[in-house]
Amino acid sequence: MNTALYNRYSNHLMKKYGEKVYKLPVNLPGTCPNRDGKVGEGGCVFCDEQGSGFDCLSNTFSVRRQLEENKAYFSKRFQAKKFIVYFQAFTNTYLPFKRFRDNVLEAITADDLVAISISTRPDCVNEHYLDFLQEVSIDKGIDVNIELGLQTVNYHTLALVNRGHTLAEFIDAVNRIKTRNFAVCAHLILNLPWDNHQDAVENAKVLSALRVEYAKLHSLYVVGGTPLGDMYQKGRLEIISMQDYIQRVACFLEHLDPEIVIQRLVGKGPKDNTLFCNWGVSWWLVKKKIEDYMEENNIYQGKKFDYLNGKALKGMF
Ligand code: SF4
Repeated sequence: MNTALYNRYSNHLMKKYGEKVYKLPVNLPGTCPNRDGKVGEGGCVFCDEQGSGFDCLSNTFSVRRQLEENKAYFSKRFQAKKFIVYFQAFTNTYLPFKRFRDNVLEAITADDLVAISISTRPDCVNEHYLDFLQEVSIDKGIDVNIELGLQTVNYHTLALVNRGHTLAEFIDAVNRIKTRNFAVCAHLILNLPWDNHQDAVENAKVLSALRVEYAKLHSLYVVGGTPLGDMYQKGRLEIISMQDYIQRVACFLEHLDPEIVIQRLVGKGPKDNTLFCNWGVSWWLVKKKIEDYMEENNIYQGKKFDYLNGKALKGMF
């Protein structure tokens, strides 16, 4: 494994916390303003009703039970000793504030936590919630990471995906989060059907310019019963080939600030009702192919990261 190709999350955690760290997913019964009518209805075209909580324990379990069961699994299997609580599914900061606060307080009682990670939408980042998270961070001495679903910086595509927000909300959320010294993780899908290779490059440039700490990539998966699923079944959805996806990811990384840590190159889809996911092969094979392609073509993260701080003025001083 060539560790120099890109800035790997596992290496980053090891360096930051001195040992391996594992994420403990928490799945809360929630919704999303893009599903309940507040900003939209029906949700993003690719979203099934589980809101990305498909690989979590049941959301009917208490926070404490989910954490204990996941911790027991990781401790037994990997001898894990440090953890990040990860509020994964739906839009966690869209929960009423008291419920959000109680769930977070229930989650942070353990003394083997190094961070808390909260998944949300860019239009659900608000000073009230950030104030509370800052208190938690200081009192408990843990890091706070906010995971923002962006998917693409192309605001025309965001409209077609029915995201219910544009690029501006993402920029605003990142700026607000960064005043608290929390880390930002941006989620992207590099092969949305309305995006092209240039959008992948622009994704990298915008994340670099905003100095987010983490990026998480996902290839598009298609679930039955979603608007995207309907398009797929009617033959109206074109998904780029695996080779094109590999080239897009490589190109994205080539333009990305080498300091940004890559949490994931390829995601997994839900087990049930999936119509298309990772070109019918396992996620790790796609990941390996990306790494092989980068190695064979001498591509590495940050190779073309030369565009900030007045590129046109370079060499004039
Ligand atoms: S923002 Fe997330 S939970 Fe809400 S509709 Fe989109 S993918 Fe689903």
